[in-house]
Amino acid sequence: AWNELGVRERVSVLRKFQRLLHDRKSEVAGLITREAGKPQVEALLTEVLVVLDATRFCVEHAFSFLRAQPVPHDNLAMKTKTGRILREPHGVIGIISPWNYPFSIPATESLSALVTGNAVVLKPSELTSLTALELASLLHKAGVPKDVFQVVVGDGATGSALLNSAIDKLVFTGSVATGKRIAQAAAARLLPVVLELGGKDPMLVLADADVDVASSGALWGAFANCGQACLSVERCYVHRSLYDAFLEACVRKTKQLHVGNGIDPQTEIGPLIYERQLRNVESHVEDARARGARVLTGGSRLTQLGANFYAPTVLADVTHAMHIMREETFGPVLPVMPFDTEDEAMRLANDSDYGLAASVWTRDRARGASLAR
Ligand code: NAD
Repeated sequence: AWNELGVRERVSVLRKFQRLLHDRKSEVAGLITREAGKPQVEALLTEVLVVLDATRFCVEHAFSFLRAQPVPHDNLAMKTKTGRILREPHGVIGIISPWNYPFSIPATESLSALVTGNAVVLKPSELTSLTALELASLLHKAGVPKDVFQVVVGDGATGSALLNSAIDKLVFTGSVATGKRIAQAAAARLLPVVLELGGKDPMLVLADADVDVASSGALWGAFANCGQACLSVERCYVHRSLYDAFLEACVRKTKQLHVGNGIDPQTEIGPLIYERQLRNVESHVEDARARGARVLTGGSRLTQLGANFYAPTVLADVTHAMHIMREETFGPVLPVMPFDTEDEAMRLANDSDYGLAASVWTRDRARGASLAR
């Protein structure tokens, strides 16, 4: 019935959702902050605004994406036939999502599934269920029928139950370890699956880079959302001629950051999501320290602020023998390593099991783009 409503009707439901979300933006951002800890202004920018923009994208492009497309036949036996690609919904899409962007990730995935005529069953992270239920409430108020968008709350066992239910496609965002389990289970029944997994994203700062701009970029990339982003800067390589100046700028700026409760408007960095995440960060920093890394700032819990706070940390003298340079840390740590030649920088950046994102910082845009290729 949802599919038969047609694109025009579904787009008008999305427009209504957009208006409702816009009207409730501060409440939704506040809920995200209370549940996930990030500063409220960050929740507004990286969650609510992202979803408003994604809704605009779906509203503007749904018609053209869903239009049937003529396909010419080049096969001699088919010369007299006409061909068309028809865009039809899969049916029921299962979405399993993580806690780090508890609103924007499941919302953007759900919106594209819904506008294209699918139904959705969302299994959010057990750490951020309330934000997902708020999404459901907004979608239902906007006119998405209750059965067409459902949330099932629970942990990995609930995710596994959803995966093994009669869904027609699964969209999973989370860790590599869970992603592998999901891919295996999906393969057994040829279930189409989308996997958005972890990263160990390198940042390369070339000899001609602007140290002030690059150091600010590094801090934003490493510490936004307290470093809990799949696309965060997880390791940084700096040309040796800039190494000392770059470290000095990073340490000076890190010391100025205001860590605290996300509800406080002064806060720039909130807590980590929970104790397990904190222990992972701590173990990476301790391993690096034990193998000779220098902790230039941070490197410890901020227990005076409450549970789960960790000081934004800058590390020097790191090597690829350390976990901090090879495994996803997912916390507020910026390990910085010098390089002498661009070949060496490329080799270090590529010396990883992960391949999600990377950035090159230079004043020469064309050179940066050619290195990125
Ligand atoms: P996670 O893999 O522990 O959990 C993700 C989701 O899977 C949760 O809802 C969880 O309950 C569920 N789950 C756990 N075990 C399951 C199982 N056996 N079967 C089905 N579902 C199961 O990940 P997390 O700790 O919530 O999120 C952090 C990870 O997500 C990081 O690795 C990060 O890089 C990644 N991430 C990737 C992207 C991206 O777009 N590439 C975006 C955000 C986060």
